[in-house]
Amino acid sequence: MRSEQCDVFIIGGGPAGATVGTLLAQSGLNVVIAEKESFPRFHIGESLLPHNLPLLDQLGVRSDIQSTSIVKRGIEFVSPTHGKSVRFDFARALDRRHPYAFQVRRSEFDEILLRNAESKGVEVLEKCRVTAVELEGSSTPTVTAQIDGSKRSWKARFVVDASGRDTVIANKLRTKERHPRNASAAVFGHFRNARRLEGDAEGNISIIWFDRGWFWFIPLADGTTSIGAVCAPEVFKSRKGDMEAFFNELIASSPEVSDRLKDAVREGGVTATGNYSYLSSQTSGRNFLMVGDAAAFVDPVFSTGVYLAMRGAFQAAGAVKACLARPERQDKLLKRYDRNIVKAADAFTWFIYRIRQPAMRDLFMAPRNMFRVEEAVLLLLAGGIDRRFRVQARLYFFRGIYYLTKGIHFCARLTCRKDKGAQAGLTPSMGQ
Ligand SMILES: Cc1cc2nc3c(=O)[nH]c(=O)nc-3n(C[C@H](O)[C@H](O)[C@H](O)COP(=O)(O)OP(=O)(O)OC[C@H]3O[C@@H](n4cnc5c(N)ncnc54)[C@H](O)[C@@H]3O)c2cc1C
Repeated sequence: MRSEQCDVFIIGGGPAGATVGTLLAQSGLNVVIAEKESFPRFHIGESLLPHNLPLLDQLGVRSDIQSTSIVKRGIEFVSPTHGKSVRFDFARALDRRHPYAFQVRRSEFDEILLRNAESKGVEVLEKCRVTAVELEGSSTPTVTAQIDGSKRSWKARFVVDASGRDTVIANKLRTKERHPRNASAAVFGHFRNARRLEGDAEGNISIIWFDRGWFWFIPLADGTTSIGAVCAPEVFKSRKGDMEAFFNELIASSPEVSDRLKDAVREGGVTATGNYSYLSSQTSGRNFLMVGDAAAFVDPVFSTGVYLAMRGAFQAAGAVKACLARPERQDKLLKRYDRNIVKAADAFTWFIYRIRQPAMRDLFMAPRNMFRVEEAVLLLLAGGIDRRFRVQARLYFFRGIYYLTKGIHFCARLTCRKDKGAQAGLTPSMGQ
């Protein structure tokens, strides 16, 4: 089998792969994207963040995407334990330049991005599954793929792994590290006639807590609503019937969700997926890097996945261009890239990993804008993670309030236990 040549070979044509491809082709490089599916294809992850929009502008696709989307102005958190819902509007964030985002059908969104890459000169090969990547022993890695029943191989100056949760290179190098405390699974479907919020809040995402986890409620432009339940893996393991019956049972157990769905009809099937968070301990190496979910995946509660993938893709494109132009500086450039990827995910994870804690929920359900802390948290929820001191200081202040609230919860639990203990001790003597 004779090897073909290219400057950059990209595994996967999702938002990360299509974005890196577009940017590299625009700078004159010869780029190939291999995508195992044929687009448009279904993908979960339909809620974008406001800070994703400038990236769409830079790629020149915002208006195409807007025409197939609904505007998302904020997030509604619904907590039955607190007996209320709270709405956060991005327009009130500390930086008000990005007041809204879009809810998208990923089949349409991803196709617009991939066709845009193609129009900028990327060679896009669909139904082309990468089966092997040889990274060592040569200055030019070799990629082998299966397409139309035959094998093809490429020698590339640089390989970008944008294969999403298939994590082609991280699996090969065994560098994928699961987060020890953040495992969950999701089951989801699409519904017509779900009751949405009213007025300009119609496109908002709702995060609805229930006793076994949380639901997402994402309105789409075509009138359907994407609804999914995220629970601990044990909840899934304990299910008795099939996935559809299990999903119906979860919905029925949440009065808030079942009320919004009382006139709704499900369209299409029910899908389940594992959801655990991971980070590859190495996100780059000689002549290759990983981007998007191929490098790291964080729990989807704040809808960060597509934004992190596309933001990472801009950084990846910069790193690849620099590495090809100055190979002698590659180690340094890739170290900086690794740091940026970890930093971006870390900006969200402190909040994400604590959102299940009662203390964090209390703070989210009773927001107070003391010293503009609420506005700083809103900026984070909008994707504003390029921290300036005025934002960072407020987020640290929020962390302080969180730990204080947690302390108060702890003392309350302790007092409650003592009271119960005293009562248990008193009861027999009272009866004597
Ligand atoms: C339950 C759930 C809910 C989510 N909700 C949201 C949300 O609301 N908002 C949000 O922003 N994110 C959400 N996400 C995360 C989001 O889906 C991902 O972060 C995002 O799709 C990452 O983009 P990507 O380009 O890195 O990977 P992907 O979009 O997965 O693209 C990877 C591409 O690579 C292709 N591929 C894989 N292996 C190969 C191979 N061997 N050869 C060739 N091609 C290959 C795949 O077919 C795919 O098209 C959610 C995720 C889950 C699991």
